[in-house]
Amino acid sequence: MDTHVCHNDEVRRADGHVAWILQDPERSYIASVLDVEGSDIQGDVLMEQPRKTCTGCGKRSGLDDMVHNSMELGIHNSKFIIDVLVHGIGLDRQVPAHDVRCSRCGEPMGRFQWSRNVSWSSFI
Ligand SMILES: [Zn+2]
Repeated sequence: MDTHVCHNDEVRRADGHVAWILQDPERSYIASVLDVEGSDIQGDVLMEQPRKTCTGCGKRSGLDDMVHNSMELGIHNSKFIIDVLVHGIGLDRQVPAHDVRCSRCGEPMGRFQWSRNVSWSSFI
């Protein structure tokens, strides 16, 4: 029996990947950081692990934290992120796991890894 707490912001798939369902605050934050329209951003992302809840402020980990950290640490530039999130390409590239900090309070949230080699259309 699955004893995990269920959240409505992610879907666990039978293959072990977890689809993070993009939430409006994530979308608007990412749009402002990347200077694109929120409607340009692709929907959900497929991750190797479920979202976590920040021990510092209670925020749910999200794509906003990933983007915030990537830009801040220079892991990815905005062009790469736009390629993935807006154009939906680049999923077959080697993408390193990120140590992610909460974009709201800076608390470490753990290490996150994109799922690779899964097409956008096969999400849920
Ligand atoms: Zn936090």
